[in-house]
Amino acid sequence: MQDNVRVTVVGAGVVGCATALQIQQKLPNATVSIVAAHTSPDTTSNVAAGMVIPPFIPDTTLSSQKQWFRDTFSHFLRLIKDHHAGIYLTNGYQLYNATYNEIPFWTADVFGLRAVTNEELAMFPGCSHGFHFTTLKCEVTTYLAYLMHRLTALGVNIIEKHLCDLFELEGQADVIVLCAGMGSAHLISDPDLCPIRGQVVKVYAPSLHTFVRVGDGITYIYPGAGGMVTLGGIKAAGDGDLRVRDSETRDILARCFTVMPFLKNAIGDSKNDEFALKDERKNFLCNSGCVKTTWGRDHETGWRVGVGLRPFRKQVRLDRLWLRGSQGQRMRLVTCYGHGGGGISLHWGSATEAADRVLDWIQDPEGKGVQDAWPANRIPAKL
Ligand SMILES: Cc1cc2nc3c(=O)[nH]c(=O)nc-3n(C[C@H](O)[C@H](O)[C@H](O)COP(=O)(O)OP(=O)(O)OC[C@H]3O[C@@H](n4cnc5c(N)ncnc54)[C@H](O)[C@@H]3O)c2cc1C
Repeated sequence: MQDNVRVTVVGAGVVGCATALQIQQKLPNATVSIVAAHTSPDTTSNVAAGMVIPPFIPDTTLSSQKQWFRDTFSHFLRLIKDHHAGIYLTNGYQLYNATYNEIPFWTADVFGLRAVTNEELAMFPGCSHGFHFTTLKCEVTTYLAYLMHRLTALGVNIIEKHLCDLFELEGQADVIVLCAGMGSAHLISDPDLCPIRGQVVKVYAPSLHTFVRVGDGITYIYPGAGGMVTLGGIKAAGDGDLRVRDSETRDILARCFTVMPFLKNAIGDSKNDEFALKDERKNFLCNSGCVKTTWGRDHETGWRVGVGLRPFRKQVRLDRLWLRGSQGQRMRLVTCYGHGGGGISLHWGSATEAADRVLDWIQDPEGKGVQDAWPANRIPAKL
């Protein structure tokens, strides 16, 4: 196959945008486009806290996770000098209580990691040990605007369209790259993709500069741009409900105040959050099953509350596949989805690999030995 191929990336979250950008950079003669039901600020990526601290993904090789994290960390480091990119250095605490003990793989790559002292621990009731370190924070909405700007400058066409079936792209693309997060479950048969519901509260606390994360990120306080601080979190596996839950907002606030008692005094007036909410408390789950995020205002405090579904898979699906149709037709497919709670921290590295799989299709267009996959609604009966 020639390198002037037509490549369509499905999805415009961090994974889709980064993948499209790297494909266009590796294949300048290719015609790359993105098709996405929703673009920023309405993707799951936009609701992410944006901390560059990945969770461990059980069946994805540790070497891949380390590589993707390192590549993403280096990519973000290169961007901190560009204030349009929304990437900042941030420092703070990873804390544990006695019942939770691990040395996460990413500790090898962050800066200045050291054990916390007893004096520091005294500030955080209930925590028995932990680390202090510097990592990066991504303001995802700013970062996605930056990526989209780079994509359009390179001539990548971004089309807002909900696909019911990947075969809608038949005849328009030589290779399809599926980066649709949770939406992938409707486009390819994959029983292993599962939502992990998350809810965050955004408060204005401009004097707070140090992040705190407890255990595997079940409770966190992440200062961000403009004095806004993200409080979390909720991790409900198998829960696909995008409605804001007041009980969870109360629970998040209570847990954060317990871990960091001085947070209460640091919080300012909710009128300082200037984010415009066009569709307050609306459930954005479309009839077609295409997932957006939900933003609402908490009735009691007025703070902004966001809900998103982490696209979790025990093994991130980074594959080169033939997509088979019911009339014997087939399309060349690359998949890159299932990053769960670590899509921001891993996206750039996994996008590099996805772009390499597109190059594999160009070098080996016949794809003998490449495995088959089917759209979710068209799995052959014999399987
Ligand atoms: C509350 C919360 C906090 C988080 N915090 C962090 C964090 O601090 N650090 C971190 O690393 N990660 C975090 N994450 C995880 C991170 O948000 C995800 O891993 C990441 O956003 C996944 O990106 P994506 O591009 O794969 O998917 P998405 O952002 O969901 O993008 C999917 C794209 O596919 C499109 N699409 C879907 N279906 C279709 C269809 N049928 N047709 C056309 N287009 C379609 C969508 O419109 C969208 O454009 C958090 C997640 C949540 C919910």
